[in-house]
Amino acid sequence: MSPKTFDAIIIGSGVIGSSITYELGRRGLRTLTVDRNGGAGLGSTSFSSAIIRFTYSTYPGVAMSYEGLRYWENWAEHLKVDDGSQLATFSQCGMVTLKTAGGHHLKVLPHFDAIGIPYEDWNEQDFQSHLPELDLRHFGPPKRPDHEDFWDEPTEYLDGGIYTPEAGYVSDPQLAAHNLHVAAASLNCEFRFNTEVSAITQRDGQITGVEIGDGTFLGAPIVVNAAGPHSKIINEMARAISDMSIGTTPLRQEVHHVPSPEELDFGNRGFTLADDDNGIYVRPDIGNNILVGSTEPDCDPLHWVDADHEGQIQPEQWEAQVLRLNRRLPTVGVPHQRRGVVGVYDVADDWIPIYDKTSVDGFYVAIGTSGNQFKNAGIAGYCMAELITAVENGHDHDTDPVQVTGPHTRLNIDMGNFRRTRIVNPDSSMSVHG
Ligand SMILES: Cc1cc2nc3c(=O)[nH]c(=O)nc-3n(C[C@H](O)[C@H](O)[C@H](O)COP(=O)(O)OP(=O)(O)OC[C@H]3O[C@@H](n4cnc5c(N)ncnc54)[C@H](O)[C@@H]3O)c2cc1C
Repeated sequence: MSPKTFDAIIIGSGVIGSSITYELGRRGLRTLTVDRNGGAGLGSTSFSSAIIRFTYSTYPGVAMSYEGLRYWENWAEHLKVDDGSQLATFSQCGMVTLKTAGGHHLKVLPHFDAIGIPYEDWNEQDFQSHLPELDLRHFGPPKRPDHEDFWDEPTEYLDGGIYTPEAGYVSDPQLAAHNLHVAAASLNCEFRFNTEVSAITQRDGQITGVEIGDGTFLGAPIVVNAAGPHSKIINEMARAISDMSIGTTPLRQEVHHVPSPEELDFGNRGFTLADDDNGIYVRPDIGNNILVGSTEPDCDPLHWVDADHEGQIQPEQWEAQVLRLNRRLPTVGVPHQRRGVVGVYDVADDWIPIYDKTSVDGFYVAIGTSGNQFKNAGIAGYCMAELITAVENGHDHDTDPVQVTGPHTRLNIDMGNFRRTRIVNPDSSMSVHG
């Protein structure tokens, strides 16, 4: 029996792999998506805080995320199918980036102005009228709770914040990946779950397919690495790392969930908050809860782990994040029960994703999503499909980067910014606010 062949094989059906699959399917390709888990979005996607924001420090980051927003605003229309199951919902609660001296907002605002992204410059009175419980004092730089100054009472205040009304979050990231899987499966796209890619085959520098765990060969001239924190392992399988100047490494990450006091009602009237002064990001969560994550401040050690890392919430990190949250929102308190998730980021050396071809013909990468690409799933899938189509039709992306026009905003997305051969971008913030 001759081996089964496809136009393209996608490794990984997280939110990124499922989106790429859908976009290739829409272009008429017969695809196979393989995932070692039992369903779509059960890898790092399922732990995502799924914040949809545009506060990136580079123009391409802002442009891509603003285009990415439109997919979430038009999710049902984007998917074009209704399998009877629920669709992921986008809660447009807005976002505040607190202003710190020399802070992140200074890098962001020129890009907002250039693109025309609406924002408001909130002062103390604005915070008073929107969320008077928020303590606008200047606590930074971020510290661990065992630092002797942690409980000092500052006398200075922050200079307000930048509010972007269109930002928000998706409450069920795994469901979003499942929605994409269903949409793709309605096209010419096959999915195989509980199936692990164990080898990537090539002949004379051209991809020929993959081998899965039981030794079965599946043929395709195109293979896409969308393996999340396993990206480096897959790149090594394809022998595609020789010309990559940007590497990827799995990083452990904890996100905690605490109930909102009833009177604060943060789950319903709160907004997403980027608080570099305290080293945290915060967002409302369904059921009147509060989600709090870390922005990797200098005082928090980074835990580089192996791609399969599964861990428990560490009491020290729980305390650090929840107590910092309490400095900003003092009525929250510290619940006895520690609730949250331990996830893994696939971090690129400059915290900017790699969406690219590689030195091996037919092998493409959508990796290094660095804890901040859930929001871009829709547009990343579109950009990857455009890039793959161009390169397979003979375009030399390495010397003349593919330019993508965002289908909703008409913004230009220069795919050269996401190349594997770039130098570390000095404008990158090297951290994330979700
Ligand atoms: C804690 C946390 C919070 C985050 N918060 C945000 C946020 O607020 N906003 C935002 O925009 N982004 C956020 N992110 C980032 C975002 O969630 C990720 O960028 C995105 O989900 C990555 O999707 P993916 O499809 O690339 O990877 P994954 O979802 O990890 O999917 C990769 C898939 O590949 C499969 N795979 C791996 N190896 C193999 C193999 N050999 N064979 C077969 N299958 C394989 C895995 O099983 C997995 O399902 C967060 C991430 C985490 C972990």
